[in-house]
Amino acid sequence: MEIQTLNVSKLVDNCNRQLNYLRLSITDRCNLQCRYCVPQDLIPKLSKDEILTYEEILRVVRIATRLGISKVRVTGGEPLVRKGVYEFLHELTATEGLKDVSLTTNGVLLKDNLEKIQAAGISRINISLDTLNPAKYREITGYDEFDSVWQGIEQAHQMGFYPIKLNIVALKGINDEELVEMARLSFRYPFHVRFIEYMPIGQSDFNPDSLLLAPEIKNRISAMGNLVTIQEAEHDGPAQRYKYEDAIGEIGFIPALSQHFCNKCNRLRLTASGQLRPCLLSDHQEDLKEALRQDCSDRQLAEIFIKAVRHKPSDHNLVAKNPARVYGQMRAIGG
Ligand code: SAM
Repeated sequence: MEIQTLNVSKLVDNCNRQLNYLRLSITDRCNLQCRYCVPQDLIPKLSKDEILTYEEILRVVRIATRLGISKVRVTGGEPLVRKGVYEFLHELTATEGLKDVSLTTNGVLLKDNLEKIQAAGISRINISLDTLNPAKYREITGYDEFDSVWQGIEQAHQMGFYPIKLNIVALKGINDEELVEMARLSFRYPFHVRFIEYMPIGQSDFNPDSLLLAPEIKNRISAMGNLVTIQEAEHDGPAQRYKYEDAIGEIGFIPALSQHFCNKCNRLRLTASGQLRPCLLSDHQEDLKEALRQDCSDRQLAEIFIKAVRHKPSDHNLVAKNPARVYGQMRAIGG
């Protein structure tokens, strides 16, 4: 392949971080409307023409693997609402050079589609679940879907999906009363229960007083038992991993604001509209879509990757209590 003549075998940025992980947002549409993610006044959705076709995404992934990407996570918006997603997942997992393909979903459509997901070769799923209380679920997401999501989680567990990571955005005054109960799930199930700090991305109806940082969450859930650190593995993501003694699952914290993990960030993101973003928390992006639609060569696409990598900031500049925001919407960038 002509990319090889670029003499770049790996995507290594200016801070010597090797980028091997690509997050793919395949749609900006979602079947929930979480208060902290999207504002009440709907913002316009991308038209069909504006989002990359599956063929375009697969081409980008093939090039990315030639450049050293070996891990891909499919996200959105809600990836399972896009037509044709299961066939796409099949093709994606067959891409040469990809060692790990996983999925992030809100779980609403999970229970009826787990077999298709498994048949596509995916066993690692992250499911967003901010509460265990159905009424609160409706309050946060705008929809009465708690039961479907929970059934999907239980069924995924029974079918052998592993690891199942439950992602909880911890919000003061909204779900903080439940943090201990959620952490307790790790005694009943081998789930990875992960607490995520809210990040100021796009417009939303988030009240900054709700911000709850990882050290405080850890403090609160430590009341239930001693949290033992799990030794980091080489390709661990940003989660700080712990385990209660005697638990079968894990606890994780994703302290995006309180403790930057930028120094070990190995990610690039492809947005639903074909923009390559070197950092979730910075608005810099490189346009792959235009290049794809102008019949560019693989080499030209690879060059766009390399340009994006050069722009990867050493650090995001957001800190807790800093009002700075990222303008792109989470659901289009891909969380
Ligand atoms: N629809 C899928 C889902 O719900 O998992 C994938 C997309 S969603 C944007 C991915 C994750 O981002 C979810 O866990 C969601 O809670 C989280 N999220 C959305 N907005 C966020 C924000 N401002 N700060 C932190 N996490 C956020």
